[in-house]
Amino acid sequence: MGSRRRAKIVATLGPSSSDIKTIESLIKAGLNVARLNMSHGSHDGHLKLIQNIREASKNVGREVAILADLQGPKIRVSKLDTPLELKEGEIWELGYEDQIPNFKGQKFIPSTYKELVLDAKPGARVLFDDGLLETKVIEKKQHTISIEVIVGGKLTSNKGINLPDIKVSAPSLTEKDEKDLYFAVKNHVDYFALSFVREPQDILKVKYLLHKLKVDIPIVSKIEKPEAVENIDEIIKVTDVIMIARGDMAVEVGNHLVPSIQKKIIDKCNFKGVPVITATQMLESMVHNSRPTRAEASDVANAIWDGTDAVMLSGETATGKYPIETIKMMDKIVEEAEKTPKERPFLRNIDLSSVTASNQVAASLIAEKTNARWVLSLTQRGNSCLKMTRFRPNVKVLGVTPSLQAIRRMCLYWGITPYYIDSAEDDMLELEQKVLQKLKTEEQLQNGDKIVITHGDGSFFKHGTSNSVRVEIIRDLRSKNNSKQDSSQHLRQKVEFERGHIILDTDICASCQNCISVCPYGIWEINENKETRINEENAMQCVLDNTCVDRCPTGAIEIIPKMS
Ligand code: PEP
Repeated sequence: MGSRRRAKIVATLGPSSSDIKTIESLIKAGLNVARLNMSHGSHDGHLKLIQNIREASKNVGREVAILADLQGPKIRVSKLDTPLELKEGEIWELGYEDQIPNFKGQKFIPSTYKELVLDAKPGARVLFDDGLLETKVIEKKQHTISIEVIVGGKLTSNKGINLPDIKVSAPSLTEKDEKDLYFAVKNHVDYFALSFVREPQDILKVKYLLHKLKVDIPIVSKIEKPEAVENIDEIIKVTDVIMIARGDMAVEVGNHLVPSIQKKIIDKCNFKGVPVITATQMLESMVHNSRPTRAEASDVANAIWDGTDAVMLSGETATGKYPIETIKMMDKIVEEAEKTPKERPFLRNIDLSSVTASNQVAASLIAEKTNARWVLSLTQRGNSCLKMTRFRPNVKVLGVTPSLQAIRRMCLYWGITPYYIDSAEDDMLELEQKVLQKLKTEEQLQNGDKIVITHGDGSFFKHGTSNSVRVEIIRDLRSKNNSKQDSSQHLRQKVEFERGHIILDTDICASCQNCISVCPYGIWEINENKETRINEENAMQCVLDNTCVDRCPTGAIEIIPKMS
């Protein structure tokens, strides 16, 4: 069922990946979360893309989440008539684009940011085009700032401007972002990403806005500003997800600091149970080539070993030549890396004070220790699955829910396979039986397989929490259902012989055949209905060593020696 991979793949969709057929192939290749980059394109274009993603998911039969990534206060060079050539040592004027008429013919760089002159301070760096061109502020004037070119080059229209040494006063949610947010809410996206987050207030303001709109959409905070790195503990407390946005981060703090910041942030997120996405240039060379470099493959694997919940692709899938191959490659690298997993957090380091958290961790441990096939976590909103993911369970977890919103949300959760069950049932037992029946056919469960089930029991615990865990042992439900007897009366087959009694509780026997495989005397056999029974003749040979009793997963066998 689905991929064997636990960490999830987020991929940016764009011109190379926006038609239904390509999106279907991306989903089959392993796409879990489709990212819309709101910095580019129109609302009409984004709407078409959202419709195509939903349609492709339906065709493939697997849901993906949609993440709308808001542009935030990104500062850019305005549209230029011709590219500008900046030479080392030259002095240029930089200002708001409205100043162009006054500076025509002079060395003037127009920008989209109104408050640039107000915010700037002498000595601060001004970087262009992802940091490829570097300048320094010499002087603040009335309408412009004078900058000296440190590293020159060609500057073209719309290139990004980074101000790593300047506290930018622009609001974190711009007018454009607000319009994009309303659009995305209306079109039912599953996650928002906020760019250039600086402090917890940036996230709380958006949460308040979403609350006023009466929608509950989780927020991904993109960590790319030095201030965000400084405020990371406070940001983790209020955000739903973290994204390590290594593109702008590298420009702002320098490439050399990115790997250690990545490791520290992932550690903090793992500790607090906040999902974290590692983003940008993971398989960058696949924009042009069908194979990544060795360094890129290592980068993806190392992010997994750092403990990331998800890895993200940008240009590789949005504009690259090989979007499908890139996802297949990422899927393979992640799956391979997960064969040597990071050591999971020690139990004593995890905050288990909430009933749901401790219940979910207990369920993971029971599944692991009893060698269960699956954990089924019945969930209304996916919250209990999120609590489980933090413990990094090594048995696969199905997040079972009748809510499509929860299914899509869980697409980002590490190790959780979202499992939709079409049901209006409020009765958890009914819901469980439906899932088990489905799994029996879809997953060819064997008799004797163990399934650990968690859910919220009772009216309070039903919604968003979990307080109950039990182990179900698969047995032949068909013959059991046919028996139509009162479930309080167990049917028994009892054989008495010289040295004792053998009793089989046929009602709870799973017909797993474990007893048959360990008994050298043929005391156990399968009848025409594929049910396990005692062979009464062979029973006489029983040596009372209890191996079959120990191997019976349901406790259906009793061997009672006769007193001499
Ligand atoms: C980044 O800077 O790494 C990033 C993910 O953001 P964007 O792609 O919006 O620049």
